[in-house]
Amino acid sequence: MNHYTVDTKCVQGGYTPGNGEPRQIPIIQSTTFRYTTSEEMGKLFDLEENGYFYTRLQNPTNDMVAAKICELEGGTAAMLTSSGQAANFFAIFNIASCGDHIVACGTIYGGTYNLFHVTMKKMGIDFTFVDPNCSEEELNAAFRPETKAVFGETIANPALTVLDIEKFAKAAHAHGVPLIVDNTFATPINCRPFEWGCDIVTHSTTKYMDGHGAGVGGCIVDSGKFDWLAHADKFPGLTTPDDSYHGVTYAEKFGSGGAFITKCTAQLMRDFGSIQSPQNAFLLNLGLESLHVRMPRHCENGLVVAKFLRSHPKIRFVTYPSLEGDTYYELAKKYMPNGTCGVVSFGFNGGRTAAETFMKNLKLAAIETHVADARTCCLHPASATHRQMNDQELEAAGITSDLVRMSCGLENSADLIADISQALEKI
Ligand SMILES: *Cc1c(COP(=O)(O)O)cnc(C)c1O
Repeated sequence: MNHYTVDTKCVQGGYTPGNGEPRQIPIIQSTTFRYTTSEEMGKLFDLEENGYFYTRLQNPTNDMVAAKICELEGGTAAMLTSSGQAANFFAIFNIASCGDHIVACGTIYGGTYNLFHVTMKKMGIDFTFVDPNCSEEELNAAFRPETKAVFGETIANPALTVLDIEKFAKAAHAHGVPLIVDNTFATPINCRPFEWGCDIVTHSTTKYMDGHGAGVGGCIVDSGKFDWLAHADKFPGLTTPDDSYHGVTYAEKFGSGGAFITKCTAQLMRDFGSIQSPQNAFLLNLGLESLHVRMPRHCENGLVVAKFLRSHPKIRFVTYPSLEGDTYYELAKKYMPNGTCGVVSFGFNGGRTAAETFMKNLKLAAIETHVADARTCCLHPASATHRQMNDQELEAAGITSDLVRMSCGLENSADLIADISQALEKI
């Protein structure tokens, strides 16, 4: 599939049926897999041979869908996880443990921030959060001898900052560690971080990839470009024998193209069991089949809405990276020339009360704590996800009390503008 465009990979990647086999990806609804001799099964446990034995670790349906996402990103290996949270946790925990340190971009998804700053901190992994606009000097100063990775989001949810992937990759590589990028909002249709020096990509497939609000899921893709053995001291989990797998050394046995995902499956999926259900993987694949058709429409609607809001007298500000004049417009043009995403943030001259009135009067756009599906939805963080914070705390978190986040769906933009207009008139 590799010589085809991403569009064709969306439709046909990951699975090529043989004669008489199902045209659609089969849902392998089975926890276990049969073998005729114990010796044959033993080879699987020793990682001597490829094969399935228990769906907590691997399932063929999941692997077909992971293979499609791997092709879309241009990677060498990939795995599905039960959620985006599990994908980001696994991607970091696969190479960092108690006593280690990670450099992360400060503008990341709230759930990921909590995972890093609270839960992984309890596991003894320390994080330094940097400004996405920091200078190279400031970025380099964040590293420590025990730093194991750098992390950021292509387009941050909900801040809508754009990661300067080349800047972050350069700093990561200068310190002998990989750059991990959460590419959820851009999707491989709009940005392929591996082409800019990123080493590992993660996704919440819950968002645009699924695209219909049907199933929670995640994915990890390895570019295969990071040379673990060249930095063997930093990554003993990949470069020294794993006693729980009969002394296999992942980086030697599976090379730089396969080591990361094999270790992540054999150890973390085995022990934490955050597998995606094959049913959900099937639904995810249906979403992927039209991702390349849907993304341009999400972006088109996002831009129409952002332009309309910017020219409206009741609107105080609009944040949308594809909107000319946005702080991240130049970076968006470089990394995502065909568009960014469908999510737009904006605030009101009338403050919090105006935001509340606006939200109450929307008819087409529903109020949801979700983004990136076919139906337009809206959130006022100050009265929902961030309601425990007062106005000063909100300001410090970069979320003003008048901020509304709108995820533009696939409806006709004229209908969206009409809905937004009538809700603005009520203010
Ligand atoms: C939603 C989201 C996540 C978490 O994904 P879940 O599938 O909800 O666990 C991680 N990163 C980003 C950028 C997201 O938008």
